[in-house]
Amino acid sequence: MTPSAVWHPFTQHGLGEPIPQVVRAEGAILVTEDGRRVVDAISSWWVTTHGHCHPRIVAAIADQAQRLDQVIFAGWTHAPAERLAGELATLTGLPYAFFSDSGSTCVEVALKMALGFWANRGAARHRILVMQHSYHGDTIGAMSVGERGVYNAAYGPLLFDVGTIPFPHAGAEQATYDALEYACAQQSPAAFIVEPLVLGAGGMLMYPPTVLTEMARICRVHGVLFIADEVMTGWGRTGTLLACEQAGVTPDILCLAKGMTGGSMPLAVTMAGAAIYDAHYSTDRAKTFYHSSSYTANPIACAAACANLDIWREEPVVERIATLAARQAAGAAMLSGVAGIENVRTCGTILALDYAVGTGAGYLSDLQPRLLAFFRDRDLLVRPLGNTAYLMPPYCVGAEDLVRLHDALAEAAGLISA
Ligand SMILES: *Cc1c(COP(=O)(O)O)cnc(C)c1O
Repeated sequence: MTPSAVWHPFTQHGLGEPIPQVVRAEGAILVTEDGRRVVDAISSWWVTTHGHCHPRIVAAIADQAQRLDQVIFAGWTHAPAERLAGELATLTGLPYAFFSDSGSTCVEVALKMALGFWANRGAARHRILVMQHSYHGDTIGAMSVGERGVYNAAYGPLLFDVGTIPFPHAGAEQATYDALEYACAQQSPAAFIVEPLVLGAGGMLMYPPTVLTEMARICRVHGVLFIADEVMTGWGRTGTLLACEQAGVTPDILCLAKGMTGGSMPLAVTMAGAAIYDAHYSTDRAKTFYHSSSYTANPIACAAACANLDIWREEPVVERIATLAARQAAGAAMLSGVAGIENVRTCGTILALDYAVGTGAGYLSDLQPRLLAFFRDRDLLVRPLGNTAYLMPPYCVGAEDLVRLHDALAEAAGLISA
């Protein structure tokens, strides 16, 4: 076999791990070229919501591709983008939609909007507050507002300085509020960016809606912009369309991506409140929001996102999510009793747990590949974050497949003690 020319993301090719080829997908199942049917328990990196190749989304893409594939979006517009922006404004309570193409870029846009807001008002406010263990993407700005570690150590010199608020561990919420209050009052920050209810890549760390409500309140009192990064939590993952809904919070700026097209096409949006837009609205060109990418609001991607909204409106999506959440809660109850498993937690459709790893030095480093292989051998796509394993399947995942996943998580605990 000729060696592949592909350089894969987050992959150490030197370890020689197998890279299966996927030829087809339907619902929660990926079909490989050698005929294996793999349960996609992580929604292909958190994007697939209603299931792979949903007929309605596939049809919308095919239809749009034949009429208008792409058009410049600076000074031009098209129906799929207009419809999508209007519906997003209604859904989110934020009147303006700025499109981009990935979670990382919609975060970059949010940060630039926040800084533009203050700059156009003549205020020197550019410090960004972040939460410990956050993840907001892999471009330089998005990495800067995320947790520092092995994943970005080499690029550290390029990252800008931020203020970090401690994660609100249960029982220690006051320390988070105090740190946020202090930073807001003393450092004139431009904005606070946070993942609502669940910190995804940081280890599926969860905190309750009351904490989100209080953090938003503190920001509002001090006039600090509140940016909600719902790239992962949006589109039903936490049980509601947006995680912010559970906290009664409307952020100043909202980031959406991953599930926006049901997981079919790359598309992202940064939703902005009127104050953010108004700060850029002027006859003065210098106050323009200077951001664009070639494919901003690509019509095919927008059509896929409109089909996603139709599915939300016309299919029993909310009921599917509630059913999945109940099954995950039942799985969590079972897993809580398994030796070697700690901190079993759920939020809506997401279930996460930690494998107890003890203190053996170096043990942790080979745990990840061993777990990956364990699940791969069982035709389950589960991709642990260190010693944290989680299930975040498409909402259509079969009840039996979900039980298989819960059982496999329990069985894998035996690997650690082995
Ligand atoms: C995945 C993720 C991002 C980055 O999205 P990409 O599309 O991978 O660039 C940003 N924020 C959060 C919370 C995410 O989970």
